[in-house]
Amino acid sequence: MKYSSCCPKCQNTEIAVVAGGGFKGNLYNTITFGFSTVYLTRYVCTVCGFTENYVDDSEDLQKMKDKFCNPGKDSEFV
Ligand SMILES: [Zn+2]
Repeated sequence: MKYSSCCPKCQNTEIAVVAGGGFKGNLYNTITFGFSTVYLTRYVCTVCGFTENYVDDSEDLQKMKDKFCNPGKDSEFV
């Protein structure tokens, strides 16, 4: 949906893109862990309502990777 701009459920091509973040009017679409807050960008099909969330910031993706893919490594305070 992010790349195709097409709903996988109903093939509608009008996708609403709602960026996450306190200054983008979408403060609560987040994942929080430790002291980190990751904002999600939400893609909503305007016909059937199907929704996808993406972490768009590559630094945030790295944080997620460190936290959730390397459980032996404590990156809580990084
Ligand atoms: Zn749809």
